[in-house]
Amino acid sequence: MTQDTMSLDMYVHGEWRAGSTGDVVEVINPAKGELLATVPNGSQEDLDAAIESAQEGFEVWRNTHPRVRGQIIYRIAETLKERAPEFAELYSLNSGGSIGTGMWTMNDVAGRRFEYYAGMADKIRGDSFVTPGQFLSYTLREPVGVTGHIVPWNGPLWIGSRTIAPALAAGNSVVVKPSSEAPITLLKFAEMAIECGLPPGVLNVVTGRGSGLGDLFTRHPGLDGIYFTGSTATGRRIMENSAGNPVRTVMELGGKSPNIVFADAGMEEALAGAILAIFANSGQICVAGSRLLVEESIHTEFVGRLAEMAKDITIGGPEAEALMGPVITARQKERVLDYIEQGKSVAELVAGGGTPSDPDLQAGFFVEPTIFDGVPNDASIAQEEIFGPVLSVSTFADQDEAIAMANDTQYGLASAVWTQNVMRAHQVAGELRAAQVYVNHYYTAAFEVSRSPYKASGHGVSEGPDAIFEFLNQKSVSIKTGEPPAW
Ligand code: NDP
Repeated sequence: MTQDTMSLDMYVHGEWRAGSTGDVVEVINPAKGELLATVPNGSQEDLDAAIESAQEGFEVWRNTHPRVRGQIIYRIAETLKERAPEFAELYSLNSGGSIGTGMWTMNDVAGRRFEYYAGMADKIRGDSFVTPGQFLSYTLREPVGVTGHIVPWNGPLWIGSRTIAPALAAGNSVVVKPSSEAPITLLKFAEMAIECGLPPGVLNVVTGRGSGLGDLFTRHPGLDGIYFTGSTATGRRIMENSAGNPVRTVMELGGKSPNIVFADAGMEEALAGAILAIFANSGQICVAGSRLLVEESIHTEFVGRLAEMAKDITIGGPEAEALMGPVITARQKERVLDYIEQGKSVAELVAGGGTPSDPDLQAGFFVEPTIFDGVPNDASIAQEEIFGPVLSVSTFADQDEAIAMANDTQYGLASAVWTQNVMRAHQVAGELRAAQVYVNHYYTAAFEVSRSPYKASGHGVSEGPDAIFEFLNQKSVSIKTGEPPAW
């Protein structure tokens, strides 16, 4: 894997566009702690240009036959899969995940989403209602307009595709602001999408810092909808920003997801699932299973074995194909270590607790897989999203207590239940206040199924057939066909 420093511009109206001020953001390779690229720190002028471009793009795209829209989106899916190795490498260099994760992201997540929504482009339809002799009424489902997308660093395309693909299928134009920590894959993707036949202006990428360009973006009166994925704190700020231009918002925010293991669970599967749930991508996944709730009768054996397994977890840069890569920034590493220090004062540290000693990992932002046992449910490490490889383990006595502890959080993004009792699985799934419930697995939910977050994890529908409605306005048209009764 090469690492020459790149100098990238923004991508607006089918062209690379230098920033108007010359100010840049430095993008760091988290596995090496070295400069990877610079991108413009966009200004109001740059943003105005991107939104004007998207307004022009919208007029072309909404008037493009839906069948043709679907064909172009399908071509994007196919091209992304063909070029998956190149995009996987960019993802790994910039976000720190393994090449294998990058390949999966391009083929089975982002590629799959563009493929899925390509097929939906010409199946958007409304309803009709006849009042005999009075009215023929019908609905028109119309694209929202210029949609603004804000994407976190951990999966620029794996998460970006979740809103960009349905937005395009519904006939909207798109302006994306990627994280200034990981803007590269989305910039290159926008160029690729235009080469696949997307008209100029339909997909634009602006770069710059969240506090700064992000605030200007979410206050911009030219946006017709805001689709945000990121932390709850930033989501709150964006909703305040957008209050002056009260357009539709969809918010996919943070999580602190409970992973519940009952005594009747398949032990080996539950152990492997618990490890994957928190340590894959070093815990930097919104739905990571960061709170493990274990039934008292199996707790000692389960946690003992988990701590042993944590010692064998591989840690390394992208080429190592390790389960755990670096955390994204030096600042995030310090934040995670700070949470670990807090944990030491309230719970028992049974694995990890620091940084790896491997000399090759000293320059990058690596943290050991860390497990705390006996964590009180109100401790900060049990309640706050750490977004790092830190697992809090607590015990429960029975099903009611497990449900109560699982729901005792401000978040409601994901959850998991491990049990061989099918009745219990359904009962617990029904009681958990979370957008997703995994039963006897972790993470492998179908992208074809729609869901909505609970509580401080956000609002709006993501994935599957119903997500398309977040990108459509519904208009009713009533035609007089006779003499309606007098009022
Ligand atoms: P942040 O909330 O810090 O940033 C997310 C995005 O918002 C970035 O593009 C960031 O830009 C931008 N941003 C920051 N401040 C503003 C602002 N004032 N106005 C507009 N945009 C702004 O999250 P992270 O990038 O650290 O990602 C981790 C978080 O994302 C976790 O909380 C995680 O749970 C959540 N997440 C949620 C997912 C879900 O599906 N629910 C999926 C993945 C992650 P910049 O980086 O340039 O500051």
